[in-house]
Amino acid sequence: MEKIKMVTPIVEMNGDEMARILWGMIKDELIHPYVELKSEYFDLGLANRDATGDQVTVDAANATKKYGVAVKCATITPNAARMKEYNLKEMWKSPNGTIRAILDGTVFRAPVLVKGIEPYVRSWKKPITIARHAYGDVYKSVEMDIPGPGKAELKFIGEDGTEMCETVFEFKGPGVLQGMHNLDKSITSFAVSCFNYALDTRQNLWFAAKDTISKKYDHTFKDIFDEIFSTRYKDKFEKAGITYFYTLIDDAVARAMKSEGGFIWACKNYDGDVMSDMVSSAFGSLAMMTSVLVSPDGNYEYEAAHGTVQRHYYKYLKGEETSTNSVATILAWTGALRKRGELDGNEDLRKFADRLEQAVFRTIESGSMTKDLAMITTLENVRTLSSGEFIKAVRSSYEELLRSES
Ligand code: NAP
Ligand code: MG
Repeated sequence: MEKIKMVTPIVEMNGDEMARILWGMIKDELIHPYVELKSEYFDLGLANRDATGDQVTVDAANATKKYGVAVKCATITPNAARMKEYNLKEMWKSPNGTIRAILDGTVFRAPVLVKGIEPYVRSWKKPITIARHAYGDVYKSVEMDIPGPGKAELKFIGEDGTEMCETVFEFKGPGVLQGMHNLDKSITSFAVSCFNYALDTRQNLWFAAKDTISKKYDHTFKDIFDEIFSTRYKDKFEKAGITYFYTLIDDAVARAMKSEGGFIWACKNYDGDVMSDMVSSAFGSLAMMTSVLVSPDGNYEYEAAHGTVQRHYYKYLKGEETSTNSVATILAWTGALRKRGELDGNEDLRKFADRLEQAVFRTIESGSMTKDLAMITTLENVRTLSSGEFIKAVRSSYEELLRSES
């Protein structure tokens, strides 16, 4: 059978530990046999980040800007223990942080739904995608312990010398104080990424904040979303048959619980931090969450939401059998290849991505899965497979699908 040809390359970022092992298996078993892969390859494994002074991460992000589509393997974010383990020159920053800063994007996280792995919330039938604003608020705040009585003020001095001042509180005794900020520019690119992604995936978009209490701060978020929607997206949304709606964060939480799912929930930074963990665990497994970084000018970087699965890697190094779930990483590949296919008008590549995803679902739904899923599935007669066996089983399902089509 002839392999599927690609027109434009995708950017491929390899990573670390067990995720890197899965990466190799996925390419060997599921990509190379079927696709003449065109990729610009960057090794973001920690050893190479150290050897290149982390330049490789910057180069990979810039290549993503050039080609528009990337697929990334999970990578280690170094801490003190990793400094020792890899004998690092420096405690390099999180690659995801570096890439996000260069692409100025928003991360969308969506659970993968398969029959047999049921969400804990009974009404949820479709995935809920969380879009988390990744700049500012409490994550870039300054804080103070207040030792005793005194007046706290919020003061801004303009470059032209004009001053604005508000009293925060007159302390009668000890307490705490915090100052935080955000930028119109960052909120705007967050909103644009959300509107584009909603159009892209044809899903309704919700945005929620607390503008009734925070009449300037949260209200600014609401106003920017409203303004961009009414001037640039209203018609497009109508044509696509989708809606945008704003509500208060507490109302959004209540509605989400009673919903069927199938929408994008845009969250301020802190709300996104909290809600994405709630949504992912309620849908079943961290290993079944995909993640895509979308920049406001339309670049896409796909990855699994989980990390490098260090514990499994050490077992693997000892020669023990592992049963690590590769679904999210396979879906990062299909996400990137489908997007490449869409952008290039490459129907064969698009179909390949769809078929491979279908093969993943069929494999699990027929009872073949890794241990993490075997422990929570409602299916009976389950076969628990090793990391490699599962990927081979997906390949068999793929071949079966091909045969049934011809
Ligand atoms: P992790 O890789 O997400 O794994 C934590 C635990 O979750 C695993 O030990 C495993 O539980 C379970 N798990 C996660 N993914 C799984 C999968 N695909 N299949 C089966 N089980 C899975 O987090 P970590 O081990 O705490 O972090 C390791 C490294 O990942 C860290 O250095 C961190 O910096 C990095 N990280 C990278 C990214 C990224 O690149 N996007 C994101 C998060 C973390 P059991 O051990 O109980 O089986
Ligand atoms: Mg968190």
